[in-house]
Formats: sequence, structure tokens, C-alpha cells
Amino acid sequence: MNATPLIRLENVAKVFEGKGLETHALTGVELEIAKGEYLVIAGPSGCGKSTLLSIIGLLDTPTDGAYYLDNESVADAPAARRAELRNHKVGFIFQNFNLIGDLNVFQNVELPLLYQGMTPKARRERVFEVLERVNIADRARHHPSQLSGGQQQRAAVARALAANPEIVLADEPTGNLDSKQGEAIMDLIHQLHEEGATICLVTHDPRYGTDATRRIELLDGAVVNDSKLQAVVG
Ligand code: ADP
Ligand code: MG
Repeated sequence: MNATPLIRLENVAKVFEGKGLETHALTGVELEIAKGEYLVIAGPSGCGKSTLLSIIGLLDTPTDGAYYLDNESVADAPAARRAELRNHKVGFIFQNFNLIGDLNVFQNVELPLLYQGMTPKARRERVFEVLERVNIADRARHHPSQLSGGQQQRAAVARALAANPEIVLADEPTGNLDSKQGEAIMDLIHQLHEEGATICLVTHDPRYGTDATRRIELLDGAVVNDSKLQAVVG
């Protein structure tokens, strides 16, 4: 079997321009990710990990090269099409949670569903389904500032899950959590992979991502290592 990859980056570069200074965040990235893979992305600070996730997740565009998502060329697709794909296919989990402070947990999780054309009743049911799943339904009316880091990240995972995305992108999701909270988040990511989601996880913590199927390393914006991992059984 040699199915078309879900994600295909061809010679992708990203240059940030500013004040006479050019930063080459990514250079010549060739990367194919099949549906159902669980990728760990490693590399030193500043090597381009977050930039790569932003491009994969359609939050940012490459300055050069091509990106095919499900065989569709998306690097220079219209903004509306990119937003549609992002809303339907991608769930993001960030190190600093990125919840909206003015909204309560329910509203934060409901937000991605507003683009899905669901009725208010269906939205409410879905929000509570995912809040229960991450064990935070009892905090639905709280605002992010009233929650611990672990609770905020569980709410952020619920938001990422709400639209049932095929692709889950997690950028150092345990970086601001203690180890118990971190394990709870990693368990959820593990479950999502078991259910068929394609996962890209950036982490520095060697305790995490041990159940990944593949590991890539970046250095100075280039992929310098790409290895399949043997799942640890037992
Ligand atoms: P990592 O996540 O691996 O730490 P990043 O992808 O955040 O690395 O950054 C890669 C490089 O691009 C760094 O040199 C960083 O300073 C630069 N960079 C990232 N985002 C921007 C931006 N919006 N404007 C200018 N430079 C940026
Ligand atoms: Mg980063």
C-alpha cells in the first residue's frame, strides 16, 4: 500500500523579513506525513519547529515551495479556503494554552463549532461531550484565569477536539504543566492517535512521545533526521 500522503511539503522555505534582517526559519523542507502517523518533532530552540507546525496547520504560509493537504495545493489557496480547511481538519494545542480570556470555557470550546453550521443545541451537546471527555465539564462557566494550568490545557484540548479534526498539532503542550498534568494531556493525545488522528507533537521532554511512530529532527530550519519508531509494547 502506498497511499497518497495526507500532508506533503515540497521544498518549503519560510523567510521572516524585518528591519533589514532576514530570518530563514525553514529551508528546503521535504516532508510527507501519512494519515494516522504520530510524529514527534524535535530540535533546539529557534530551529523552526513552531514555524513548521504553523505552516502545516494553515496558520501561516511558506515563502517558497508547495504544500499539498489531501492532494490539494494549499500554500497559495485563497484565505477563505485555507480557513475552511483549518477549521474542519486541524486542531491546535499550544504551550501557553491560547484560550480567549474574555470567554468562558464553554464559549472557548464552542468557538470552532460556530464555523460548522451546527444548531445551538447540537453545539451545546458537542461542547459538553468534549468537556466531559477531558474531565472539565464542571468548569464550563469558568474563565481561563480562574483555572489551573492543567485545567486550562484540558480546556484547550477540548477546543482542539470539538470539530473532530483529522490532524492534531501540539506545540510543547506540556511545557507549562507539572508532570501529573502533563501526563493527563499526553494520555489524551495518545487516545486521539488510537482513534485515527494524525498527530504532530513538538516536545523537549523525553518522557513524552514514546508512543510516536516517527521522529524528525530539525536544525537551522532543515530536517536533519527522520526515523520510524518501533512502538514500545507493554
Ligand atoms: P522553534 O519553535 O523551533 O523554537 P520557531 O519556529 O519559533 O522555532 O522560530 C524559527 C526562527 O524564526 C527563529 O529564529 C525565530 O526567531 C524566527 N521567527 C519565528 N517567528 C517569527 C516572526 N513572526 N518574525 C520574525 N522571526 C520569526
Ligand atoms: Mg517553538
